[in-house]
Amino acid sequence: MNVIYNFSPGPAMIPKEVLYKAQKELKNWNNLGYSVMEISHRTKEFYQVVIEAEEDLRSLLNISDNYRILFCQGGARGQFSAIPMNLLGNFTQADYINSGYWSNSAFLESKKYCNSNNILIRQLKNKKIFLLKPSQWNIRDVSAYIHYCPNETIDGISLYEEPNFNNKVVVGDFSSYILSRSIDINKYGLIYAGAQKNIGPSGITIVIIRKDLIGYASKSCPSILDYSIINKNNSMFNTPPTFAWYLSGLVFKWLKKKGGVKIIEKLNQKKSDLLYQVIDNSDFYINNIVKENRSQMNIIFHLINSELNEIFLKESKKFGLHALKGHSIVGGMRASIYNAMPIEGVKQLVKFMLFFEKKYG
Ligand SMILES: *Cc1c(COP(=O)(O)O)cnc(C)c1O
Repeated sequence: MNVIYNFSPGPAMIPKEVLYKAQKELKNWNNLGYSVMEISHRTKEFYQVVIEAEEDLRSLLNISDNYRILFCQGGARGQFSAIPMNLLGNFTQADYINSGYWSNSAFLESKKYCNSNNILIRQLKNKKIFLLKPSQWNIRDVSAYIHYCPNETIDGISLYEEPNFNNKVVVGDFSSYILSRSIDINKYGLIYAGAQKNIGPSGITIVIIRKDLIGYASKSCPSILDYSIINKNNSMFNTPPTFAWYLSGLVFKWLKKKGGVKIIEKLNQKKSDLLYQVIDNSDFYINNIVKENRSQMNIIFHLINSELNEIFLKESKKFGLHALKGHSIVGGMRASIYNAMPIEGVKQLVKFMLFFEKKYG
């Protein structure tokens, strides 16, 4: 077995074509005689990288002119702080929709800055997890914004309905959801995503923000988290992670070449369907999330006989299938199948799961 498929949740797989291109031009980028990592972010060559990355992302997500794209640092967790510091303005409250590990972490961090309302939307019905729909959320007039997370990377739970509240600023942690399916950006005040799940290497964080929301940072907000300062400096207030920016740009071009988000969305549906089918057709594997709220990016499953977990991981690795271990707080297995995972990798996992079930079931 020499083909290896990497199901890592993040940092995650990057398309092979992108890696080959980066490798090819690594030591002599743009005929300069050195790599893209070794030039100033203020050169005209790097400026071209920046322009194209922004243009490509804009066209992939259909982002209109009244939004700014900021390329930030500090990861998604940095945004957990930046968001309240920038968006509260004169408000003292914000609504945090709680659907799992990451949205809960955002809620906990926000409490340093405001009176946050913890709105639990995760419920159980017949032992299955489901999420309350946006129309059932108990949001409040006194809140500056509503924060939610459409894909809970660790829990394998997704909310596909886009929240739409008139005049309410909706903020989304799209770290493991961005570019996996089309969205209507106009429904959001701000969406953000660390790159290391569905874009590129870690180190760069995308913030897409409606222009009228820029300029309200609190006095104590650190300059490098102040959207207005980042914006005025074209995301170069401090030295940006240039290699991560460049590689993210290559991923955007790769995705455009594949046909864009509408095409990848269909493929993502197909990929996740293949795995959930195996799980649902067996008495050996289980996933206890209702169909409507199952993640297409992070497929969670448990072996009913958990004593087989270690053997499953050992044998799957021998089969060329890596990083399937679930997060410790959920247990079991997790197959992260972001855009970069080809359907062949998913089919290989299906093959292995059926084989393993036959052997031990
Ligand atoms: C990975 C992840 C984070 C944390 O990202 P960092 O870049 O490590 O801060 C936050 N939210 C979601 C949904 C994630 O998947």
